[in-house]
Amino acid sequence: MKKKLKVFKFGGASVKDAAGVKNVTQILRSYQGDPLVIVVSAMGKTTDALERIVNAHSNKTGEGPKLLEDLKAAHYQIMDELFEKGDPVYDEVNDTFVAVEWVLDEEPHENYDFMYDQIVSAGELVSTRIVAAYLTRQGLPTHWLDARDIILTDDIYREGWVQWEQTIENARSIAQPLLDKGGFVLTQGFIGSTTENFTTTLGREGSDYTAAIFSFCLDGESMTIWKDVPGVLTGDPRIFENVTKLDRLSYREAIEMTYYGAKVIHPKTIKPLQNKSIPLYVKSFINPEGEGTFIGPDVDDLYPPMVAVEKNQALMNISTRDFSFVAEHHMSFLFNKIAEYRLQVNLMQNTAISFAVCVNNNSLDDKVRQFAQDIDKDFKVLIDSEGLELITVRHYTPQTLEMLRQGKIIMVEERTKNTVQMVAKEVPTMKRKA
Ligand code: ADP
Ligand code: ASP
Ligand code: MG
Repeated sequence: MKKKLKVFKFGGASVKDAAGVKNVTQILRSYQGDPLVIVVSAMGKTTDALERIVNAHSNKTGEGPKLLEDLKAAHYQIMDELFEKGDPVYDEVNDTFVAVEWVLDEEPHENYDFMYDQIVSAGELVSTRIVAAYLTRQGLPTHWLDARDIILTDDIYREGWVQWEQTIENARSIAQPLLDKGGFVLTQGFIGSTTENFTTTLGREGSDYTAAIFSFCLDGESMTIWKDVPGVLTGDPRIFENVTKLDRLSYREAIEMTYYGAKVIHPKTIKPLQNKSIPLYVKSFINPEGEGTFIGPDVDDLYPPMVAVEKNQALMNISTRDFSFVAEHHMSFLFNKIAEYRLQVNLMQNTAISFAVCVNNNSLDDKVRQFAQDIDKDFKVLIDSEGLELITVRHYTPQTLEMLRQGKIIMVEERTKNTVQMVAKEVPTMKRKA
């Protein structure tokens, strides 16, 4: 019987160098002959490097071309370890870098987000060229697919919204026939295209979402995200000791945790999978035999406490200038403005004359301050963004809360049956005068 489609996603950490690409190839060997869509992110920290290039160009610092040269050299070094001299992949990769050079040769585009997407998308375009070529040379025939021919979005740059009908149609008419030919189909995470053929991106860390879009559109049997951790853990191992792996998670639990900053999966990933009951596995590319975490329907386990920490928060305290109550009509105005500035609200609390709201504060843009300025005529806004983080705890215990509060000032706290959320700040340490 014909095997059903699986979708794999390999993130930047898995392909950060030549050894990583070889390891991914090793994992894929055992799936040779299976219908498989492979979604790959930019190598290592390439997207961060490309963001620096965007900013250099936007601020006209003149450093853009040099930064791009360095990034290109890093990719060439990886290719030198993987390919013979003169391999056609060098030209493919070079063409993508040349396209970025052209953007840098022009005046910065007036729409920052548009320019961002045209430059930053290069990371996935080159990584996929390299991985697809390497797999093919290693005897695993692989079709390179341009994700922009499949994923159609609106023209909200840096956060493209998927146009599902057209995307499903494209997946069936373009990706499926490629799969039917045999061989793997390998494509870019994170990127899409508008109807006018301009490149868009789906939001930072969006490659997981890309894999979910393909799983949904092509009715995948399962999706697997390959990570540098054994699976989904009870907290970020870079922040907490003694975290343990969760063997099984419900879609609901996964959505709750990732939305509030569990960096292990992009929050938009779960919904398309849930709609078709497609199971999601999070597995380790370091130990591919490990069981990983299963995320799917019908999981109603008792969960241990799980913690997500989202840094870079801003707490806004909004009050009316005329001392009137913050009533419904104010709320409706404020929420419309919040939506207009695309601020992600993580927590809110209101009293009679003020409204406190905690939002993500992206250092790249200045949306929080712009929002405050926009409403300044009618509302006084006090912004606190110094060292603030949002801590979300599911299935909390008194001990977990106590541990989390240590050394912190809790600015706002909210508690429901299963969840505690706190906006916290480091306690400033006192220093003796010399
Ligand atoms: P990728 O290369 O696939 O994009 P990331 O580096 O973005 O991977 O994400 C993997 C990292 O997420 C892990 O190395 C880990 O430090 C971090 N992480 C944060 N929260 C969790 C969690 N709850 N479980 C597992 N890993 C987590
Ligand atoms: N390369 C993109 C990023 O770093 C997308 C991703 O890795 O998921 O944000
Ligand atoms: Mg990532």
